[in-house]
Amino acid sequence: MWLPKLIPSLFLCLSGLFAQSAENVRVHGIADLSHEFSFYADGRFRSQYLPDQVVLSNWGNLYDLDTENINLIALLGCDGNVRYNARDVAFLKKFLRQGGCVLIAGNAGTKGQNLLLSEFGARFEGKAVPPFFLTSAVGGSSAVAGNNVSVLVLKPGGKWETLVQDSAQATVMARRKEGKGTLIAVARNLLGNNPDGKDALNREWVTPVLKEAASGKEVSGEKPLPAVGSTRMGNSKVVDGVTFHYSDYLAPYFQDMIKIEAQCRPAMEKRLGVPLSQGMGNQVGLLATGGGGFSAGGYVGLAVFWENFPKEKKGMIEFLCHEFTHSWVLPHPEVWNEPIATYVGDVVMGDLGYPEEGKRRIENTIRRASTLDPDMTVYDIYGNTERPGAVRLDGGRKNEIHWGKSFWVFEQLRGMDPEFLSKYFRAKRKYVPARMDHRYNMDDTVAVISIALGKDMFPWFNEHGMPVDREKTPFSRHIPSGK
Ligand SMILES: [Zn+2]
Repeated sequence: MWLPKLIPSLFLCLSGLFAQSAENVRVHGIADLSHEFSFYADGRFRSQYLPDQVVLSNWGNLYDLDTENINLIALLGCDGNVRYNARDVAFLKKFLRQGGCVLIAGNAGTKGQNLLLSEFGARFEGKAVPPFFLTSAVGGSSAVAGNNVSVLVLKPGGKWETLVQDSAQATVMARRKEGKGTLIAVARNLLGNNPDGKDALNREWVTPVLKEAASGKEVSGEKPLPAVGSTRMGNSKVVDGVTFHYSDYLAPYFQDMIKIEAQCRPAMEKRLGVPLSQGMGNQVGLLATGGGGFSAGGYVGLAVFWENFPKEKKGMIEFLCHEFTHSWVLPHPEVWNEPIATYVGDVVMGDLGYPEEGKRRIENTIRRASTLDPDMTVYDIYGNTERPGAVRLDGGRKNEIHWGKSFWVFEQLRGMDPEFLSKYFRAKRKYVPARMDHRYNMDDTVAVISIALGKDMFPWFNEHGMPVDREKTPFSRHIPSGK
């Protein structure tokens, strides 16, 4: 406070030096997915803050990680059902002593992160008051962006050094030396969040701070990186031909997951009329999140805590079937790829003892479209229309139509033939070759629907706002004629 006039030039000089030294630091980082899965941690964190460095995603037990050639571990989240255990804490302390940087991002609501931080005399609590400012420890005059930022409460007399403050001089980001290493605690909302990685908040100063902190441990481009990935979670077990991968943190949920999977798959096969194609859906990874999963064809990632699983089962049936349907429809994704995946889930939910809930979800989804297109004649399944005078829809309402109209079509077709789904997928397997010179499209789809139902369905789709042309698809020659 007694050097106000000197500070600006000193900052310029320091930050100049700082930027230069940070520039040459090689970072080999780990973004931890094992305590909380997110697409953000799987690659996006790297593309935002360390695009020219190595950042691998860790899917398995953190304490099993080989850190020989690693100097940064980013703990970006911890699901509310998971904790860092004693082995994790000992592992992180050892890594810090060796000179590594550990970044803990959290907020007042992230229990796991706060319990971990309490080991180091800090926790997130209460709401910070924007705007935010860099302290002299960071230097520079960059603006600090962030909404809904939590205050970082530091144990007095500790070794913490504040890096970013709010307007009331409360800390929102700090670091402390720990052996040769550096521990950084940052309010999660000072970092980006978008799965697409576009919102690289505060990149100008976050990147140099990370690089400097990682410089306490040298890594080498000549030495091997640790083997990590979605099939290295710590445990892999084969059950009925399917390999399940899961970390020790999720081991308590393994039995519940294989049980529900064993119920869903035969029910799906019955509904879809065909088995999975060779190599599809034969690996399952359990993900520490309630927020979503993915299908990569052969590998299906499942959110273990989806809709309050394992306490409640019905939501998991819909979700599990959704992800597996993505694998089932391959090699050709459907024109209504997301809606049909959930629809199959809702039908199977009915088969497995929740018929009312399945029906309710189907009706609710159809309502999303019927409010915009009551007689289902105006929009195609993407929410577009050629009809003169009809309202053109924005992206959000197009999405409502996409889901609602697709569900409506499936219900109509199943009304015409209760076995429609299995007949459709059997016809698709039989007539649509694995390799095609074009993307499986709406014309192809309606041809296969026509084969399945044994009658030309092109007029019906055209009458209901979905323009299709049977001359444009090679599969219409298989449609039975004269019906
Ligand atoms: Zn999906």
